[in-house]
Amino acid sequence: MAAAPAPRDQTAAAPGPMTGARYIASLKDGREVWIDGRRVDDVTTHPAFKDMVGELARVYDLQNGPKYRDEMTCVDPESGNRISVSWLFPRSADDLKKKRRNSELWNELTWGQLGRSPDILAPYILSALHLKDAYSAVQHPKCDFGENLRKYYEYCRDNDLFLTHALGDPQVDRSGQQQNERRTTAEDTEVVLHVVEETSEGVVVTGGKQLSTAAPHSNEVYVSLSATFARRNDPNCVLAFAIPTDAPGLKILCREPVSRWFGSWGHPLQMLDEQDAMLFFDRVLIPWDRLFMLYDPSPIVSMLGADGKGEPFNFLGWSNLCRVEVRMRLITAVATMVAEAIGVIEFREVAAKLGEMATYCNIWRYAMDGIEHRAGPTPSGQWTLGPGRAMHIWFAQVSGRMVELLREICASGIIMQPSENDLASPDIRPYLDKYMRGKGVDVDYKSRLFRLAHDLAASSYGLRQDIYEYWHGGDPARNRINLLRSFDQREIQGRIREMLSQPLPHGAVE
Ligand SMILES: Cc1cc2nc3c(=O)[nH]c(=O)nc-3n(C[C@H](O)[C@H](O)[C@H](O)COP(=O)(O)OP(=O)(O)OC[C@H]3O[C@@H](n4cnc5c(N)ncnc54)[C@H](O)[C@@H]3O)c2cc1C
Repeated sequence: MAAAPAPRDQTAAAPGPMTGARYIASLKDGREVWIDGRRVDDVTTHPAFKDMVGELARVYDLQNGPKYRDEMTCVDPESGNRISVSWLFPRSADDLKKKRRNSELWNELTWGQLGRSPDILAPYILSALHLKDAYSAVQHPKCDFGENLRKYYEYCRDNDLFLTHALGDPQVDRSGQQQNERRTTAEDTEVVLHVVEETSEGVVVTGGKQLSTAAPHSNEVYVSLSATFARRNDPNCVLAFAIPTDAPGLKILCREPVSRWFGSWGHPLQMLDEQDAMLFFDRVLIPWDRLFMLYDPSPIVSMLGADGKGEPFNFLGWSNLCRVEVRMRLITAVATMVAEAIGVIEFREVAAKLGEMATYCNIWRYAMDGIEHRAGPTPSGQWTLGPGRAMHIWFAQVSGRMVELLREICASGIIMQPSENDLASPDIRPYLDKYMRGKGVDVDYKSRLFRLAHDLAASSYGLRQDIYEYWHGGDPARNRINLLRSFDQREIQGRIREMLSQPLPHGAVE
């Protein structure tokens, strides 16, 4: 094995781990973002985006600071540059442990609320890179898709870029869509993203994508296909690529903010509104060196495990599983603290609900440790984790249950709390101290705690998070079917058949 290069100073071409200031400057690029009928001049100052941008800048600064630098960044053995651990290509069990710790930190610092943080998107490129040869095997005279992936990975790694991703078609008419099989009708090219022209510089694409979380504050847009959309009838609709978020012709339409009072005293989590967006491509040029797949979906079908040939490479969702653990523990802890704050924790029904939540947290931890335990090298040199697809499917169910339990434990308190201005009012404050305090806790503590519960389980922000947890891994029904197709039951079915072919052990019943 070649010796690792000596660490060197970062160069202009490889500035290394993102800093808060560099991130904010990178978003002032003229990107075309729309919200509520208006074009946004600058996402770093617009009220609907600035708090989220500020939160990410805060974490980027922390990854460079003395407390976290050694856990969130490392010297890359390939380039010799310091990089974010999110972009580290895992070559050993130790690398995987480093990556798990980095993901835990990203999520502890953002309370497990960011489903599409920079750390969660990096594995999309790393996982594709693992199948570089399969991407290269698809021939095209103008480019080597595997090499494009490798160069793109290095570019992202050296600049610590923040990617969004967009996989699905616009939700216009799904009637021709037979999940898990080829479509029954040709793609509607009025709607679906497709190639309209090949030029000497690349391909020109037009169409929509639904949807792309974090698009307005990302550096790059990675576009590909989900397992539902990977099998196309029209090859012009088969493509994967990455382009800068400010690419000419790319329009980003954001939903209404889910927070009215961003990050204020009463809404502790709502500055973490990561936004969701439609992407409209109007004759956008995708340079040849930014294309990873064109006209032939075979690499992506095997990467997603949509071919029923077994569990896909599992590194893709690992940082998301780390996030889920933080989110589960947060919901459970808030529910426990609420139960204590109003003196119901010893009630049998309440304690059993909290125990149910603790059960989910523990199962999750055991499973993550098991997945890690089954890690091993792959032919590409990348270390992968053990199978874990069922975890993503299971959490789509369990997340909603945990939110429901939190709401049940809080009862009316989740909606009836004084505001910051109520607490500051000398006229009503005495009533709040008397009637709105808790068991051994004052009204300030109690109302802030319940507002945290409200953010998680009753606010429009909390509802969006819950919807996200259900859908973000794709349609849970389709995922279950894909899992079933690769679920090996041959051994037990063989024994059952054997048993059924034998006479009953004690003879026929008289
Ligand atoms: C908050 C949020 C954030 C998201 N972020 C991203 C992101 O960053 N990037 C990204 O690429 N995607 C993202 N998604 C999209 C997500 O992957 C999709 O929501 C998911 O795959 C379901 O697709 P759909 O929403 O188009 O629903 P549809 O496929 O239109 O489904 C509508 C309904 O029809 C049912 N249905 C659909 N097809 C069939 C069928 N063949 N047979 C039977 N029933 C069917 C579904 O179960 C559902 O009830 C996000 C979604 C949400 C909600």
